[in-house]
Amino acid sequence: MDLFSCLSPFVFCSFASGSSGNCYYVGKQDEGLLVDVGISAKQVKEMLRKNDIALEGIKAILITHDHIDHVLGLETLTQSCPIPIYAHPDCLQGLAEGKATQGIDPALFHEIEPLQPFELDGVTIEAFPVMHDGRGAMGYYFDYEGHTLTIATDIGMLDKVVKEQIKKSSNIVIESNYDKEMLEKGRYPFVLKQRISGPFGHLSNEESARFVAEIYHPGIKHIMLCHLSENNNTPQRAIQCLYEQFGKKHIRIDASTSVFPLPRHKSSGFVYL
Ligand SMILES: [Zn+2]
Ligand SMILES: [Zn+2]
Repeated sequence: MDLFSCLSPFVFCSFASGSSGNCYYVGKQDEGLLVDVGISAKQVKEMLRKNDIALEGIKAILITHDHIDHVLGLETLTQSCPIPIYAHPDCLQGLAEGKATQGIDPALFHEIEPLQPFELDGVTIEAFPVMHDGRGAMGYYFDYEGHTLTIATDIGMLDKVVKEQIKKSSNIVIESNYDKEMLEKGRYPFVLKQRISGPFGHLSNEESARFVAEIYHPGIKHIMLCHLSENNNTPQRAIQCLYEQFGKKHIRIDASTSVFPLPRHKSSGFVYL
């Protein structure tokens, strides 16, 4: 057996992750879906080229919510290439009214019903509602021939539904937005600090790490920390916090599990799920 035949046929690739833009690729090596287009269309095309994926290989775009760091390049990208857009009805409404997205052809819009699995390009997808102050905010669970992935980003609070959707996956992309101390001592106005740490804001390193430590088992292949804040976090702090929470529970991360933060502006390269 050669190296490539042992690799999973289902891949994830982060093109950008963080408060300045989010865009992920999920699918086979040559065709699949995008989750969010929070970077410019030009950057998306560059990332696709770097990873040897043709633009024609993008069969659909799933949107988590209508905040600009998730939809910045959506209008330009779909004007040059009419790719169907899937999102919660409230999010689609937000896109139709949004300054940066109101030029999108509404014929591309497809409504997703939360917690109702559906199939796109051979991949089973289940969207689930998350607590966040964007319109129709949702996370996504994917299953391709038993290879599973959950993307849970922009979440104020981990409720029962989100926890269940993460638990059933063997690959996790979970938000680790801010370090509590950095946010508290930082220069953000009080109201913004309240919003970020509130129930409709973002997950702290600690909240995210505590939950991951709680559900961890060696069957989990990849734990990817996403949407790290540029001003209130560092990749080192996010990872350190995760290891601390594992330490508190006396859990050792198995050698078969990889743990890493997703880069802000660089491609993560293919992660085999
Ligand atoms: Zn958001
Ligand atoms: Zn965001």
